[in-house]
Amino acid sequence: MTIRDELNQQIRPAKKLFLSGITCFFAGIAVSMASQPPRGGPPPVTLAIVFVGWFLAAIGMAKMWNALKCPSCKERLWFLHSSMGSSIWSLTIPATFRFCPFCGTSVDSPAPGA
Ligand SMILES: [Zn+2]
Repeated sequence: MTIRDELNQQIRPAKKLFLSGITCFFAGIAVSMASQPPRGGPPPVTLAIVFVGWFLAAIGMAKMWNALKCPSCKERLWFLHSSMGSSIWSLTIPATFRFCPFCGTSVDSPAPGA
């Protein structure tokens, strides 16, 4: 297994959680804005969806921040995922990311533990 495989394995579950949370959040907001409740204000159930979505997205983001570390030097690589032109929907680290900027290890080299 390469370091890239390992990083992808780390980011996938956290990213899925984040994406489902953010989808839930915006879907809840859209439903709230579209609905015309009788006494003003969105129905409580859509507010609950918005808060649950926000909560899931926050947990997913914290997990991504915590999980995405270089297996070689243990530095956090979270910022790379968001800044290297990868799509927000992408569940893998970008192909253009080839070396850890902290220790210079190639992400296509075998993972230390493997
Ligand atoms: Zn490193």
